Amino acid sequence: MKRLTAGALFSMAAPTGWSQDQSDSPAAKPSASQASSTSREVRLEWMMPAEINAAMTQCSTLFQPLGTIEWHGLHNVVGLDALKAQMLCIRAAQAGGGVVAPPLFGGVGGLDEPHTFVMEPENDIHSILVRSWVEKLCREAVRQGFKAIIILTGHYGAAQQMVIRDVAMRQSRALGIPVLGTPEYFLALDKGYLGDHAAWGETALMLHLAPKKVDLSRLGNPPYQGVGGRDPKQATPADGRLLSETICERLASLSRQMPQWDTATLRDFIDAESALVSRQMLLAASEKNVWAGWRNIGKGVISAYGQLLVERKFKEIVELTQKL
Ligand SMILES: [Zn+2]
Repeated sequence: MKRLTAGALFSMAAPTGWSQDQSDSPAAKPSASQASSTSREVRLEWMMPAEINAAMTQCSTLFQPLGTIEWHGLHNVVGLDALKAQMLCIRAAQAGGGVVAPPLFGGVGGLDEPHTFVMEPENDIHSILVRSWVEKLCREAVRQGFKAIIILTGHYGAAQQMVIRDVAMRQSRALGIPVLGTPEYFLALDKGYLGDHAAWGETALMLHLAPKKVDLSRLGNPPYQGVGGRDPKQATPADGRLLSETICERLASLSRQMPQWDTATLRDFIDAESALVSRQMLLAASEKNVWAGWRNIGKGVISAYGQLLVERKFKEIVELTQKL
């Protein structure tokens, strides 16, 4: 994410082609206890019809990773946001079930730095490109028989976050199935990750998920170009592992349970997600600052979000949103 000083550093991510097979990092290999499940192909574009049918019979959740192509410091690859989201979705689907759609490399906003594709303005909560793309994706997923959708954005300017949660909530209502749209860090707030841009959090995640695609020796000395948050030199693979495992366990639990939610649970979920994004949008509008809804995040007011979501304690989420 990029809550940099000027409030303008955010990411957009990049497209296609990340293959888990291309990640030859030891950390990307399954642990012994996970060997059987983590070797299962869950990337939709690499699956044959029989594999897709079998996967959907077991768990009819579709994961959609989002990101963009954006500068992430001299030490990270420019597709970081979408690649990170995709790798997290893959691990979650392998653990909890579901299928992972190809990542979208295009979002709302992006830094004014080299090698950055800005598809829509940074603070454009009225996004027409990403919003309509996700809407159509949700409708197609339902037409294909999916019963739940998890949209994970690894790119997180304020507008991107609000647009994704808003469109997910609206599609939940329109389609009658749960659609969760969230940045991955919202599922690890209680582990101390509040979102950043190419700083401690994102760099730690990449050190764990794809260590050969991080080169801290290229970073130089502060102030680092286009980096927002804690010093990335403080990031360790162990930090990334903790964040990754927390996020993936919660995503896996959600993937397993969401297709089974009854109407009352779906209604309460929509109420909670609606309360969250409505609060963010209202604060942004009233204070004329898209980041206004994040001003109290550092105080831990909504750190319980990820766990409450997994435990379906939606009314408690509604209460927490009022503290933003
Ligand atoms: Zn990023």
